[in-house]
Amino acid sequence: MDCIFCEMIEGGAPASVVYEDDEVFAVLDIVQPRSHKVLVMPKRHVPDVFELEAAEAGALFAAVPRIARAVKRASGCEGLNILQSNGSAAGQTVFHLHIHLFPRFRDDEIVFDWPGEMAAREELDRMAREIGRELE
Ligand SMILES: [Zn+2]
Repeated sequence: MDCIFCEMIEGGAPASVVYEDDEVFAVLDIVQPRSHKVLVMPKRHVPDVFELEAAEAGALFAAVPRIARAVKRASGCEGLNILQSNGSAAGQTVFHLHIHLFPRFRDDEIVFDWPGEMAAREELDRMAREIGRELE
């Protein structure tokens, strides 16, 4: 299996980690710089929502509001879109289920560019620390 998210979870690939527990892993999205956009995923390699077990979904969605509140406090966003897309037909390039927490700001027209500009690791790490400090 060749999955960049599994490599990040196992510590073999760089990641700006926002949150981690026994079942859930959350990182800054490297291709959406300055957006505070976070990806939340199960630690187990689950390719898509069709193979997500109910208990895994419970752990995943239990983490989402905590992380969303931390993103709000760190970024000052006013709203937040929660998106989940499956498979290449939905525009995904990594086939490890992940939920996008996508901050929205008043009067923003588009925060989400795809493919986005790559952010510097230092900037992502700084943003991840800002969000991590806001976790309850
Ligand atoms: Zn994976």
